[in-house]
Amino acid sequence: MRYSKLLIPTVKEVPADAEIPSHRLMIRAGFIRKLASGTYTYLPLGLRSLRKIAEIVRQEMNAAGAQEILMPAVQPIELWRQTGRDVAYGQTMCRFTDRHGRENVLAPTAEEVVTSLVAAEISSYKQLPINLYQISFKFRDEFRPRFGVLRSREFLMKDAYSFNESAESLDETYRLMYDAYCRVFERCGLPYVIVEAETGEMGGSGSHQFTVPCENGEDIIVHTADGSYAANLEKAAVDPPPKTKGKPKEYPPMEEVHTPDKRTIDEVCEFLNTKPEEMIKPLIYVAGGEDIIVALVRGDHELNAEKLPQAVGGKHVEPADEKTVESVSSAAVGFARPVDMAEKVSGVFIDYCVAAMGVGVAGANKTDYHVRNIVPGRDFPLEGEKHVVVADIRNAVEGDTHDGKKLLFKRGIEVGQVFKLGTKYSRKLGANFLDANGAEQPCIMGCYGIGINRILAAAIEIGHDDAGCILPANIAPFEVLVIPLNNDKVEVVDQATWIYDKLVEAGADVLLDDRDVRPGVKFKDADLIGIPLRVVIGERGLKESNVEIKRRVDEKPTLVPVADAVAEAMKLLDKMKQT
Ligand code: ATP
Ligand code: MG
Repeated sequence: MRYSKLLIPTVKEVPADAEIPSHRLMIRAGFIRKLASGTYTYLPLGLRSLRKIAEIVRQEMNAAGAQEILMPAVQPIELWRQTGRDVAYGQTMCRFTDRHGRENVLAPTAEEVVTSLVAAEISSYKQLPINLYQISFKFRDEFRPRFGVLRSREFLMKDAYSFNESAESLDETYRLMYDAYCRVFERCGLPYVIVEAETGEMGGSGSHQFTVPCENGEDIIVHTADGSYAANLEKAAVDPPPKTKGKPKEYPPMEEVHTPDKRTIDEVCEFLNTKPEEMIKPLIYVAGGEDIIVALVRGDHELNAEKLPQAVGGKHVEPADEKTVESVSSAAVGFARPVDMAEKVSGVFIDYCVAAMGVGVAGANKTDYHVRNIVPGRDFPLEGEKHVVVADIRNAVEGDTHDGKKLLFKRGIEVGQVFKLGTKYSRKLGANFLDANGAEQPCIMGCYGIGINRILAAAIEIGHDDAGCILPANIAPFEVLVIPLNNDKVEVVDQATWIYDKLVEAGADVLLDDRDVRPGVKFKDADLIGIPLRVVIGERGLKESNVEIKRRVDEKPTLVPVADAVAEAMKLLDKMKQT
C-alpha cells in the first residue's frame, strides 16, 4: 500500500473529550473519527487493525470447534420479553417501533436470538454440543460513553454461545473457550489477568473476566499477593471481621440528636464528632420489582450491586425511588433508621461489618435528626427474626482479607468474559433436546464475549509513548513501514520501491511512505501511527549501500546493507509476531 493513496489524517490537536492516551492517539493517528456520542467511523488504519484482531479471534474460535454465523442487529422485543430481559436490560437497550407497529431492539447481545435458533434447529443429543459465534456490531446506550472506542455505544463484539447436554460437557466447552481466549490475547500482544466474575443479569453459575491491567481501566481487580485469588470488585469476597470488643450492655441507650442541615456522612460525622466507620447507612432497595428491602452498610463502605442480589436469592434489585424511601423512613431521604426495619420491609440485609460493629450512629426516621448509641444485636436483630440476613454485601476495600490473605487492588480493562449460563435461556425459549433415553432436556448453555475494538484501544492504552502508538506486530495496521527520505532522488525512490516489493513478496504487510513531504513529517507520522518496524532509505546511507532498520520500540536504528535489508526485516518481524 502507498501512503499517498490512503486516508491517514494525522492531527496534532485532539478534542477536549479525549481524556486518555488511547482515545487521543487513535484520533491523532487517524484511526477513528467521532460521529456522535459513543459512535465512531474507522478510517483505513483503524479498520485494518480491527480486522486483524477479528481474524485472530476467528481463527482461535474455529480452532476450538466453534462455528461462525451472523445474526441480525434488529431483534423483535418479543424474544426479550420471554426471558424478562426487556426489563432487566433497562435503558441500556435501544428500542424502536417499526412502520408496522412491531417493537424491536438493537442487539446489545444475542442470547435470545441464538437460543431461539437452536430451539428450532436442534432436537437430539447427537447434535450436541454445538458452539455458535458471530462477530458483529452491538449497540448499548451506555450511560456514560467515553474513552473513545474503549466504551462506545456501538462496538464490535465476538459473541459465542454453546449448547451442551450435560454440566460436564459445558465444563469442557468452557475450558476450550477459556484456553482460546488466552491464545487470542497472547497473539494480540496483550498482557492480561483472569479474574473470577459475577454473572449479574446474565444469570448462571460461574464466570471469568479477562482483564488488561492498566491505570485508566474502569474495572478494579482484587487479588492476593501470591495470586491464589483474583476477582473483580463486583465479585471479590472478603472475610467477615471479628466482632468489635465490648458487650452490648456497656453502651448507653439510644439517643436522638438534632442535626440541622447535616446531610452527608462527612457533615454528620463532623457535627457529632464521629467517624464514617461508626455510621450505619440504611439503603432502601426494591427486589424483584416489588419487595421493599433495606441493606445496612457502614458509612465508609459501598454497597455492592452484584452481592446484594445474591443475598436476596438472585432477584434483580434497584434503588427505591424517593417516595418509597420517604414512606419507609417517614422522613426525607438520608434519615432512615435501622431500628424496627424488619417489621416494615420484606427483608433486612446486614453487612458483616455492620453486624460486627460495637455501636453506631444512623438516621432517626425523622428529618434533621440522627440517633447515637445504636447497638447492632441490641437495638435491631442480627438473627432469629424472619427476613434478617447477615452477609457480605459491600465492596472490598484496602485492609480486607480473603482466606486470611491481604487483598490488593489494581485497575484493568475488561476485554473478554466467559459465562456458564445454565438453563435460564434454554428453558424460557424452549431450546430442548432428546437425550439418549428419549427424555426431553433443556440445553445447558455457556456464552463467551470479546470486545474487538476494546482490544485495540487497550493495546494502545498500554502501548504508547509521547510520540505515538506502539502496536504489537500482529494487530498493527501494517507490519513494516518503508520510508524513502528524498523523493526527488531517483536512486532513493528506486531502492525503496525495490525493498517494498521484496517485503511484499516475502509476505509482509507493508506501507510505503511515498509522500512528497519533508523527512521530519514522515518520521513524526511513523512514530504516531505506531507501525512496529520501519526501513528508512536515504541518500547518505545509500552512498555506503546501507539502509536503516528500526523497531518502533528501539531508540536508535541499525545500519544494514541494502542487500540484507529484506532478510533482516523479515527476521525481526517474525520474532515480533511470535508473541
Ligand atoms: P462492561 O462491564 O465494560 O460494560 P460488559 O461486562 O457489560 O462490559 P459483556 O456483556 O461481557 O460486557 O460484553 C463482552 C465484551 O464486549 C466485554 O468483555 C468488552 O470487551 C466488550 N464491551 C462491552 N461493552 C462495551 C462497550 N461499551 N464498548 C466497547 N466494548 C465493549
Ligand atoms: Mg463483561
